Amino acid sequence: MVLDPGHGGPIDTGAVGSNGLPEKEVNLKVALATASLLEEEGISTVLTRTADYPIPIPTRAEYADLMGARALISIHHNAPAAPASDVPGIEVFVQQAQSESARLGGLLYDRTMARLGELDVDWDRAPDAGVMTVINSDGEDAYGMVRRPATTSVLLELGYIANPAEAAIYLSPRYIEAASRGVAEAVVAFLNTDGQGAALVEGRNFDPQSGVGKDQCIDVTLDEVIYPNVVKATVSGSEAGYDFSVTVSSPYDTPDRYADAWRVVGEDGTVYGVRELVHDHANEQPFTRSLTGVVIPESVDSVIIEARDQTYGWGGGTVVLDLP
Ligand SMILES: [Zn+2]
Repeated sequence: MVLDPGHGGPIDTGAVGSNGLPEKEVNLKVALATASLLEEEGISTVLTRTADYPIPIPTRAEYADLMGARALISIHHNAPAAPASDVPGIEVFVQQAQSESARLGGLLYDRTMARLGELDVDWDRAPDAGVMTVINSDGEDAYGMVRRPATTSVLLELGYIANPAEAAIYLSPRYIEAASRGVAEAVVAFLNTDGQGAALVEGRNFDPQSGVGKDQCIDVTLDEVIYPNVVKATVSGSEAGYDFSVTVSSPYDTPDRYADAWRVVGEDGTVYGVRELVHDHANEQPFTRSLTGVVIPESVDSVIIEARDQTYGWGGGTVVLDLP
């Protein structure tokens, strides 16, 4: 089994509760707890991420295919406001015309509804919630984690982090226990029985937005280039003053958002010099700028050259330079 804890890293937090709880954190806790339950059952389980870091959707989607997994479950918690409900608002999105995906989705829906239903919570629930296909305007499965894998895949939205009553319990042991038990029981039934679980309800037509956002559980591809890359750097001089020449690639540059600096950093994080870039270089890619007279102690043997995006901060490809 492959479990995919949705979102991750500083930019793709997923939806955020009114209490500040990011969806990425709950998704990971449920996935980790589920994995340990499955391992107890002797079911080999791999997570697409095991801590708080970003992974593009296409990379996540390849895990299950490359490993020859029986199935992949992408675990999420939804955001848009939904009406109050006595029962959980679980939604399971399955692959169109794939009976095994529908079967896994049906079992997940039944087991997670049973387990979460044991908790006394003021749930939210969309009127058309259930196990369903979601189709985009090209007629494909709308969500990347459902559309991309050749492996049997589903995307599970366990609840509504936008609902304060739900966000308040998501990190509690009783919630993590109930959610992970529900998912694990469904997986065991999927692998060991012919059980069908809940039937499909009427599907939706929907075109997810691309890009990143904190107010929704968005299907983030991270295809968008968000950091500049340092592609080349040279250094001359001595500890009394080094001269750096650095080439940066930021082909996404526009006047509205561009690579706005590069810097010289020690292995221990000490910053020795910053070259600020006051405008975009949309018409000059990649571009080379210099910084002279950078004083670095003799004890330092090598430095890292990093570049900064105006919106997302330091990141992207770096170059390590041995000092002369
Ligand atoms: Zn999500």
